Amino acid sequence: MARLPNRTSEAPVILGILKESAPGETRVALLPESLKTLTAQGLSITVESGAGESAGAHDQAYAEAGATFTHDRRWILANADILPVVNMPRADEQARLKPNAVVIGFMKPLETPAALAEAIRRPATLFSMELIPRITRAQAMDALSSMATIAGYKAVISAADLLPRLFPMLITAAGTIPPARVFVIGAGVAGLQAIATARRLGAVVEAYDVRAAAGEQVRSLGAKFLDVDLGGINTEGGGGYAAELTEEALERGRDLIARTAAHSDVIVTTAQIPGRPAPLLIRRAAVESMRPGSIIVDIAAPAGGNCELTKPGITQSMNGVTLLAPLNLAAEVPVHASQLYARNVLNFLALILKNGTLSIDLADEVLAGELDSGACVAHEGRPINARVAKLLEPANANELEIAYQGAPA
Ligand code: NAD
Repeated sequence: MARLPNRTSEAPVILGILKESAPGETRVALLPESLKTLTAQGLSITVESGAGESAGAHDQAYAEAGATFTHDRRWILANADILPVVNMPRADEQARLKPNAVVIGFMKPLETPAALAEAIRRPATLFSMELIPRITRAQAMDALSSMATIAGYKAVISAADLLPRLFPMLITAAGTIPPARVFVIGAGVAGLQAIATARRLGAVVEAYDVRAAAGEQVRSLGAKFLDVDLGGINTEGGGGYAAELTEEALERGRDLIARTAAHSDVIVTTAQIPGRPAPLLIRRAAVESMRPGSIIVDIAAPAGGNCELTKPGITQSMNGVTLLAPLNLAAEVPVHASQLYARNVLNFLALILKNGTLSIDLADEVLAGELDSGACVAHEGRPINARVAKLLEPANANELEIAYQGAPA
């Protein structure tokens, strides 16, 4: 193990890479291949030993890319000026951060903002990957899309693996086998990738989304888009996301879903509303109408799930129907999930690093902008993102807790 750098007034900016500690997490924030542009700027990089192991990146590869590695996690927490992470470290570790350290990662700022309190107090500057605005300039930093792409693919592969049938139509001397029927609910990033993957495997695919704009994308992938008359209500929220629907509109969707479930072999459900529990779309009766051997993969499980029977993180079998509720599908593909995530992080770092020095311009709309609507959750002890700041007001803490009852932290 190489010696850790001493801090002096001219010491370079230290960037730390931690071994992710959340249960089941296999991804790493930066890979050895990510380090070239950072070391070229004079950054000193320290990696916690084993950080990239599950993603196929050994300590030696980081060392060859110019990093130092250590078993001393606390040293990294206490000395890193920049800490890209996949998941936000726990509160006790937040309390050990170097004051004014910059932490970048998935922080669940709208779901569990209170879990960031210790880091905000430290104070640390927090940039949440979930809050990067969906503007063209920030597309290369969009880690939500990267991870959703992987989740959509993996959900279909998992279903195909478990399904006691084949996906493609086969014409053989022993007779013809019909293709599997896959139903995708929510045709956003994960849903579209699920459709494309199921189509590649030869399934017949139907899809439903409340956003009319999704219809064209669904059809362009060779799937059938199922339209529901929602009474002309607005279904588009900001930034490409869906709006939260009325109970009546949700019910119309549930009816269509129940009718479609009855003839589907696989359902991949992905519907989400940012910062809210996932909409309930699949009733128990719809699950019971599916034939034995059918598979449901509820990708919305981390936000509580789209199916009435979903238990986040638990696989259940009911009357021969298997219901999967994975909490971290991206972690099941650690190499490519880390590769895409690391590129998103690197592109973000290019915004706040100038010639090896931290240079944070909160006027930039990706970071905060005039509306405080960007990725910056907190800076110099103050909440910055307006939505998160509002949730952190003591009066709103209780409402948030109720909204997320049942959803995992
Ligand atoms: P998401 O994960 O929040 O939701 C998944 C899908 O569920 C969405 O398509 C949403 O419309 C749908 N949904 C929500 N409630 C539903 C309901 N009650 N019934 C049926 N479907 C419901 O969304 P996402 O996948 O992250 O992205 C959504 C859109 O944003 C996509 O069209 C995507 O192409 C777009 N996008 C734009 C950019 C950009 O940079 N401009 C980047 C990424 C994504």
